[in-house]
Amino acid sequence: MKALIWQGTNKVGIETVPDPALLLPSDAIVKITSTAICGSDLHLLDGYIPSMEKGDIMGHEFMGEVVEVGRDVKRLKVGDRVIVPFNIACGLCDHCTRGNYSACDNTNPNHRMAEALYGAVSGGGLFGYSHIYGGYAGGQAQYVRVPFADVGGFKIESSLRDDQVLFLTDIFPTGYQAAENCQIVKGRDVVAVFGAGPVGQFAARSAQMLGAAKVIIVDRVPERLKMAEAAGIETINYEQTDVLIALREATGGRGPDHVIDAVGLEAHGHGPGALMDTAKQKMRLNFDRITALRWAILSCAKGGTVSMPGVYGGLVDKMPMGAAFAKGLVFRMGQTHTHRYVRPLLAHIEKGDIDPSFVITHRATLDEAPELYKTFRDKHDGCIKVVLDPWG
Ligand code: NAD
Ligand code: ZN
Repeated sequence: MKALIWQGTNKVGIETVPDPALLLPSDAIVKITSTAICGSDLHLLDGYIPSMEKGDIMGHEFMGEVVEVGRDVKRLKVGDRVIVPFNIACGLCDHCTRGNYSACDNTNPNHRMAEALYGAVSGGGLFGYSHIYGGYAGGQAQYVRVPFADVGGFKIESSLRDDQVLFLTDIFPTGYQAAENCQIVKGRDVVAVFGAGPVGQFAARSAQMLGAAKVIIVDRVPERLKMAEAAGIETINYEQTDVLIALREATGGRGPDHVIDAVGLEAHGHGPGALMDTAKQKMRLNFDRITALRWAILSCAKGGTVSMPGVYGGLVDKMPMGAAFAKGLVFRMGQTHTHRYVRPLLAHIEKGDIDPSFVITHRATLDEAPELYKTFRDKHDGCIKVVLDPWG
């Protein structure tokens, strides 16, 4: 089959590789009909996440048709149309049974490696996301092996198009969880979102769905701000305005009640070099790559939440912890518990509350994906979200 392969830092290409096969009785093989490029893939592209190996298949936002099932798979059958969350969860461990699927104890055989590199035990496995997350082959390919298929394969029976349900695999739940973590008081709270990338777009619209009185998004890319404006979201271009003053003015002087950091480490386009020197696996501090989080803490109103879907790793220093303490802020962060949100958010899509395809700006074949990684990274050509057809 054809697949998008990590060939080294800043190098991805299409290669022909063996088709995946069932390895365990709980696996299924899915023929992929649609797959997307995520902001998280850029952290792999630029070598920031350690332990990618040449030959790894990338991609964690995908859906398709079940073409083979192991003997223990009970809920899915050949021919089913499924979306597959980016996290791999066993569904049985203590964390999964509490709904904390991204913390699964049983799907990351390499969690010790993550502990050694990050000083922390990672959660469960992820598709196409390096060996510290289990080394699972990803879904920017024609086929993928789905472990624990009864837990991770969500059947889509409605007539919704692929592009309306594809983002249930990651960015819609990720934006939604970020907004839900704010515990928005309906009709009263103002929510500010840093980053108008795909995650920020869904976080902002989720804050609206959860009843925020006003949502303000901050970025510097005009097309991204325009996309948010179309949904009635206020915008601030941080290259043209003093963000902290603008947010204070927009909230009667108190600051937004909750702030979402949908940027994370600004691994692409801002600041020098990678945080993690992958050659030496050595961590170093980098002060220039955390502007959004600093702004989030400084702007948030007293008693508010700083919700962080944006990805962080290694050590982060020079945080205004005095301000956070003085204001009594709550911090919520981490990998999304995607499985938790698939059904409720699908119901919202079916009701017509939101059509997630609004975020797509580029459609391409898998062969065109290496070029589109650069277009997306560099925010050229108005690129916000790329969807790939592996069979086009
Ligand atoms: P993206 O790179 O397309 O978007 C990031 C946006 O932030 C860009 O539009 C950029 O212009 C903007 N930005 C950069 N610095 C800024 C600043 N100081 N203030 C305001 N905006 C700034 O990526 P994305 O796909 O939207 O993903 C966003 C983040 O969410 C990434 O870190 C990604 O890895 C992470 N993510 C996390 C999860 C999770 O489970 N928690 C899931 C998916 C993605
Ligand atoms: Zn993603």
